[in-house]
Amino acid sequence: MDWVSSAGAGGVVIEARCGSAGAACPACGTWSSRVHSGYARTVADGPAADRPVLIRLRVRRFFCGNPVCEAVTFAEQVDGLTGRYLRRSLPLLGLLAQIGLVLAGPAGRGFGCARSPEDAAAPGRRASAARDRRGAGGDRRG
Ligand SMILES: [Zn+2]
Repeated sequence: MDWVSSAGAGGVVIEARCGSAGAACPACGTWSSRVHSGYARTVADGPAADRPVLIRLRVRRFFCGNPVCEAVTFAEQVDGLTGRYLRRSLPLLGLLAQIGLVLAGPAGRGFGCARSPEDAAAPGRRASAARDRRGAGGDRRG
């Protein structure tokens, strides 16, 4: 972490960069420390003292040294914090998923909503099962 500041809207901004010497290519696993370029990305994280937190992360793009790898370059990720194309941190996504599961519990019964992580992994399973039951019994409305 390089810097923590307060944003205008009452939020907290954390400026950080990765300290590792390189990264493993996500396509082939080859370790690389040959830097192609760098850029800044912003990731929303969970709130701190009811204030929104943004992480401005300076990341590097590396060349993959494997000549047969389909990825010529790749961006580094921070384990446990970032994922490809994600604008929210992994802990924040986990928190939002838990909130969604809690809210979908009793109110979501009968509507095909996920009630457990297993249901969330196969979101259409409950709804299609309900359709199958209705279809198997015949259409009672005429
Ligand atoms: Zn590769």
